[in-house]
Amino acid sequence: MNSKSSNSPTSFKEELKIIPKTAWWVIALILLAWYGLALPAIVRTVPIRPDGAWGLGGERIGITVVMSIFGLIPGLWISLVFYVNQDAKRRFMNRVAWTLIVLFIPYGIGFVVYFVARKPIPQSCPQCHAPVGNDFAFCPVCKQELKSHCPNCNRLLEAGWMNCAYCGNALGK
Ligand SMILES: [Zn+2]
Ligand SMILES: [Zn+2]
Repeated sequence: MNSKSSNSPTSFKEELKIIPKTAWWVIALILLAWYGLALPAIVRTVPIRPDGAWGLGGERIGITVVMSIFGLIPGLWISLVFYVNQDAKRRFMNRVAWTLIVLFIPYGIGFVVYFVARKPIPQSCPQCHAPVGNDFAFCPVCKQELKSHCPNCNRLLEAGWMNCAYCGNALGK
């Protein structure tokens, strides 16, 4: 899924770091409310029958398991929305539009679209370390030349080219 041109492969743990702290607090509150208040209240409404397992009532156990899994969905969803919000920004994508897309397109389809359509993580300028788009020819901050031009036809060269794709000029590394 992650594009090959993203220059630094990041670990899952590092990716999680871009989700802001506020989001984790909101998620923690939701989980606390769900597992601490809502879930026990729901379970208590289920009548105990004497033939239930472990003396708790089979229905209660079943409801608890199903509802526990349901409780994880909002947390996962919120963290993903915040992830997209931050991730789109660093990828020079329209942050607001993508956040709205993942918020309002149901059944997680918005997320699928985002992860398919997202651009690779931009490189940083070798001179001033500002983030620069992969197709930038010059750094917008310090004007450092990011891509070289073919000495023969003067068109933009991609990294790794041995010969110019436009005029066939041998580039020689
Ligand atoms: Zn720069
Ligand atoms: Zn050329």
